[in-house]
Amino acid sequence: MPELSQRITQFTDSVIRRMTRIADAHHAINLSQGFPDFDPPKPLLDALAKIAYDGPHQYSVTYGAKNLRDALAAKHGRAIKRDIDPETEVLVTCGGTEAMMAVMLTICNPGDKVIVFSPFYENYGADAILSGAEPIYIPLHPPTYNFDPNQLEAAFRQGVKAIIVCNPSNPCGKVFTRAELELIGTLATAYDAFVITDEVYEHMVYKPHVHIHLAGLPGMYARTITCSSLSKTYSITGWRLGYLIGPEMIVEGAKKVHDFLTVGAPAPLQEAACVGVNLGDDYYHELIERYTKKRDYFCQGLDRIGLDHTIPQGSYFVLVDISQFLSMKRFAGWTDLAFCEWMAKKIGVAAVPGSSFFKENINHLIRLHFARSQATLDEALNRLANLTQLNDVY
Ligand code: GLN
Repeated sequence: MPELSQRITQFTDSVIRRMTRIADAHHAINLSQGFPDFDPPKPLLDALAKIAYDGPHQYSVTYGAKNLRDALAAKHGRAIKRDIDPETEVLVTCGGTEAMMAVMLTICNPGDKVIVFSPFYENYGADAILSGAEPIYIPLHPPTYNFDPNQLEAAFRQGVKAIIVCNPSNPCGKVFTRAELELIGTLATAYDAFVITDEVYEHMVYKPHVHIHLAGLPGMYARTITCSSLSKTYSITGWRLGYLIGPEMIVEGAKKVHDFLTVGAPAPLQEAACVGVNLGDDYYHELIERYTKKRDYFCQGLDRIGLDHTIPQGSYFVLVDISQFLSMKRFAGWTDLAFCEWMAKKIGVAAVPGSSFFKENINHLIRLHFARSQATLDEALNRLANLTQLNDVY
C-alpha cells in the first residue's frame, strides 16, 4: 500500500479529547475536555425545538446565516466600538477550532514564523503543522504567567507573520492586561505582523479582571483577526459554532478556505444560536456570576485537600501541581499523561496532562475544569481527596 502523508505523522490526536474517551471508558468524572454539563439557555432550546419543524434544514450561506452574522457583527461591534460589516468582515465556522485553522491557512505560507505563548491551547500545534507555520514559543512565567517583553521583541525581530493571543488563556487562565495587549499591538505593528486572537472565554473573566479585545485597541483592527466561539458562552459545545471577525482582506481569504473545508456550519443550529447572540447583558452577568461561584468553590475545595493550583483570572481551567505525587516511588519515572490515565482509572477523575500545553519540558501539572454542577464538583473533590491518602507503600 502507498504511504500516507508526511503531514499526519507530525502530530498525534488531541490529548484533551483523548482524555474524554478515557474518562468515558472508566466512568470517571470528566474534568479534562472543557465543556459544561448543564443545559444551554432555554430560549435557545425553545428556538431549536421550533426550528426542528420550521427549518431551515438545508445549507445556509456558506459564510454564515445572515441573521447570525448580523447579530455577531452587532455584538462584537458594540464591544470594540466599531461598525462591522456582516457581509465582508464576519465568517461563521464549525467551532472556534475551524476559525483558527482557517485563519492559519489563510495567512501562512510554509515556513512562516508564528509566535505562540506557552502554555498554549493544544490545537495551535496541529494548526501550525497543517498550515506549514513554524511556531516560536514565548514562555509565560508562572505564577503570574507574565511574559518578558524583550524576549517577545526578539521573537518579532526574527520576522514573524503573526502572533496568536489566547485571551483569556487556556490552560493557565491568564487575562492579558491592557498594557500587555498594547505592547503586543505595538510590536505587531512595528514588525508588520498579523494578530490572531482566540477569545472563546471572553465572557468568563473574573473580577477585578476585565476582558479587552485586542482588535478594539487604537489602530489594531486592520491587522487583527478575532476568533471566538458560541460553545462556551451559550453552553453549546456540541453545536460546533464559532466565528472570526476581522478586516475584509483577511476574512475574504478565510471564507474561501472555509468554503472548501466545511461549506458551512449547521444551518438549524446557527438559527437557534442566533437567539443567544441577541440576548441582553443580563445573560452575561448571570453567566459570570455562576462561573465565579464555581471557580471559588472548586479552588477552595482544592485548597482543603492540599493541592496547589492556579487561580484563573479567566476561563474555567485550573492547573494543579502533582509534584508531591510524582516524587513518590510508586510513580517514579511516570509521565503526566500516565498519571492522568491512572487517575481516571483509580481515582475516578479525568484531567489533561500539562505537557499537552507547554513547550517547555513540564511534567508536574495537570489541567482540571470546573464547568460542572455543584454535585459533580463535590464528588470530584471527594475523589481527589483520595490522592492525598496515597503513600509510598504498594
Ligand atoms: N477548549 C476546550 C478544552 O481545552 C475543548 C475544546 C475542544 O475540544 N474543541 O478543553
